[in-house]
Amino acid sequence: MVSCALCGKRAVIRVGYLDKPLCADHFSEFFEKRFRQMLVRFDMVDKGDVVAVATSGGKDSLVTLYLMEKFSEEFGYSVFALAIDEGISGYREYKLDALVSVARKIGVELYVISFKKSLGATLDEMVNVLKSKGMVYKPCGICGVFRRYLINLAARELGANKVATGHNLDDEAQVFVMNVARSGIPNIVREWPVSRGGHEKLVTRIKPLFFTPEKESLVYSLIRGLKTPFVECPYVVYSARHRVRRELNRLEDEKPGVKYRIIASSLLYSRLLSRVVRKTTPQLCKVCGEPSSSEVCKACQFREYLGLGDVSLKIERVS
Ligand code: SF4
Ligand code: ZN
Repeated sequence: MVSCALCGKRAVIRVGYLDKPLCADHFSEFFEKRFRQMLVRFDMVDKGDVVAVATSGGKDSLVTLYLMEKFSEEFGYSVFALAIDEGISGYREYKLDALVSVARKIGVELYVISFKKSLGATLDEMVNVLKSKGMVYKPCGICGVFRRYLINLAARELGANKVATGHNLDDEAQVFVMNVARSGIPNIVREWPVSRGGHEKLVTRIKPLFFTPEKESLVYSLIRGLKTPFVECPYVVYSARHRVRRELNRLEDEKPGVKYRIIASSLLYSRLLSRVVRKTTPQLCKVCGEPSSSEVCKACQFREYLGLGDVSLKIERVS
């Protein structure tokens, strides 16, 4: 049995960069302290804020929801959960069930926006159209654009001035590598634990798990009983990010700490590049009136491509 370096009880995880095995209590204490420090260090929340936690029902977003609720009284903000039902059969229904039970358990309101009701088609239906047109666009590209669009609209509609997401250190390392591979300089500048600048119609985004490795998030979710089924989205196989994730995990096994070093570089590049890259204020999409980096926003371009009608936001309260 491996013992906790602090108390001698059975260890549940070895925290690589501390080079210490920790028991469930000491690990939870360490994990929560880092989460709280993120809220303070990056000025993520203010008294009176209304925070919408964008939750997929996966472990990272459940952990974010759980801890945002836990610290809400201390910092004086309020919290509710927001979920998107993309309409991915064999996946989304299981994750939503997990989310509903966690939201009920911790007593937060949960609102769901479905692609079908707000956009007129499920992601499964959209993917059939993509296939019939030769898969020029991949499911994740479409899904991500519509999800961000609807979350921003719904958060604003429900009075939130912050959106918290469950992006962890692994996600951020993958995003940086992909941005470098695509020479996505504006995206590299934008990646930060708090979304910077933008437009008054874009709700500020915060990522309290920015420095939290995925493995730790998993262990913490198990300790706190934040159960989620191990089902994976069937469209993940189309995603280039999936391959980057595999490669980074392999590299991390060979050279522990590589993800941290990537994240440290990403923040450095973001800061340095922000001094030389001209800041652009988003314009308003000439079709839907939402902030956009081009004349017509990506969501409207995809709606046109997929033959969808106008967006009609439908928000359902589930718990
Ligand atoms: Fe959407 Fe891709 Fe995530 Fe599936 S894997 S939920 S398609 S972004
Ligand atoms: Zn638009």
